Amino acid sequence: MGLLGAHISIAGGIELAPERGYKLKCQSIQIFSKNQRQWISKELEPEKVESFRQNIIKFNIKKPVIHDSYLINLGSQKSEILEKSRDAFIDEALRAKALGVPYLVFHPGANPNREEGISVIAESLNLTIDEVGEVTFLIEITAGQGNTIGRRFEEIRSIIDLVEKKERIGVCFDTAHAFESGYDIRDEESYFRSFDEFNRTIGIEKLMCFHLNDSKTALGSNVDRHEHIGKGHIGLKAFEFILNDQRFEEHPMLLETPGAEEFYEENLTVLRSLIKRK
Ligand SMILES: [Zn+2]
Ligand SMILES: [Zn+2]
Repeated sequence: MGLLGAHISIAGGIELAPERGYKLKCQSIQIFSKNQRQWISKELEPEKVESFRQNIIKFNIKKPVIHDSYLINLGSQKSEILEKSRDAFIDEALRAKALGVPYLVFHPGANPNREEGISVIAESLNLTIDEVGEVTFLIEITAGQGNTIGRRFEEIRSIIDLVEKKERIGVCFDTAHAFESGYDIRDEESYFRSFDEFNRTIGIEKLMCFHLNDSKTALGSNVDRHEHIGKGHIGLKAFEFILNDQRFEEHPMLLETPGAEEFYEENLTVLRSLIKRK
C-alpha cells in the first residue's frame, strides 16, 4: 500500500512539519527545505536540525522527501543560471543530508536543445554527487511543458546513463505529470503497459517515490495542472492499481493536490478507501 503522505508546509519552522504530517496520519512527508522562491536561504540552525530529526522519529515518519526549489534549472544553456542552479542544488543536498532526509526530488531542468540539456543535467548530478554523500537524487518525470526535459522515460534513462554513480539516482513518478506526458494508467491494460515500459526503459527498481495527483488536463496535454484525487482526467482506478501494487509497498506516495493541507484529509480518505485489505 505504500507509505501514504503529502507535501507538508514548513511555515513557522522546518521542525514543525513531521507533526503536521502525523496529524494527517501521514506515513511519509515531502517538504521544501527553505522558501522555494528564493535562491539563497540562511543556513539551518543546529537546534532546528536536531529538533526535525527527533520529530521524524517521534511522529513515525518514514522515508521523508525534500523537493528542490522551482528556480533551479540544472540543464540551463545560460552559464549564469546554471552556476546559480548548481550552487543552490548542492545547498539543497547538504540540507537533506543534515536533516537525515534520504531523498531529494528534483525537476530535471529545461533546455531548447534536448540533447545538450540531458548532458548538462547529468553533469550537474555528477558534480553534486561528488560533493555530497548519502542523499539519493530522484528525477521527477515532467508534464513536458515547454522545453522541460524528462517527459519521456527514454530521456530519464539517458540522464541516468551519463551519471557515474548510478546507485545515487532514482525516479519520482508523478501520476499527473506522467499522464500529461502521454502515459495512460487509467485501466488495467494501460497501467501495466506503462509500468512495463518504465521497467524496460529505466528499470522498475529505480522507481523510488510517487507523487499522487489527479490531472486537470487530458492525456498527453503537456500542461501541468494537479487535481484532487478522483476529480480529474485520471480517475480513481489508476490510484487503486498503484496503492495495491506489491512492487511499491515501501514507496513514499505523496499528495501534491491543490489547496494543500485544507484538502489533504479528504484526498487521503479517498486514497485509503482504495486499499484492498489482504
Ligand atoms: Zn515536482
Ligand atoms: Zn510532483
